[in-house]
Amino acid sequence: MSEKIPQHRHCSSCGKAHLGDGRFCSEVCQRTTGDTLKKKKRQLLILYGITMAVLIAALLMIG
Ligand SMILES: [Zn+2]
Repeated sequence: MSEKIPQHRHCSSCGKAHLGDGRFCSEVCQRTTGDTLKKKKRQLLILYGITMAVLIAALLMIG
């Protein structure tokens, strides 16, 4: 007994198998992933900025 599995991909967002082209199973997943990435990038930038500001402030206080 061998079941034939049609060619499929796994969604890059939720991991579900789906047919057809593209990295996502649906527009919703595509949108969600894009938003999450953008948010993560923004959060990283903000975190980086705060770290630099604190570092500079500390250096100024010491100096
Ligand atoms: Zn999905």
